[in-house]
Amino acid sequence: MRDLVKLVCTECGEENYHTTKNKKLTPSRLEMKKYCPRERKYTVHREKK
Ligand SMILES: [Zn+2]
Repeated sequence: MRDLVKLVCTECGEENYHTTKNKKLTPSRLEMKKYCPRERKYTVHREKK
């Protein structure tokens, strides 16, 4: 069972990416460095429900 999650930029709050994750394999909150097109730089993106 994979759930759709949104990845939100922690600096500007923009929802830049969608991904899926397996809740059983990854129960913790996802956090990854991604490119934010609004700020045109790499920022930390965090999972949002
Ligand atoms: Zn941003």
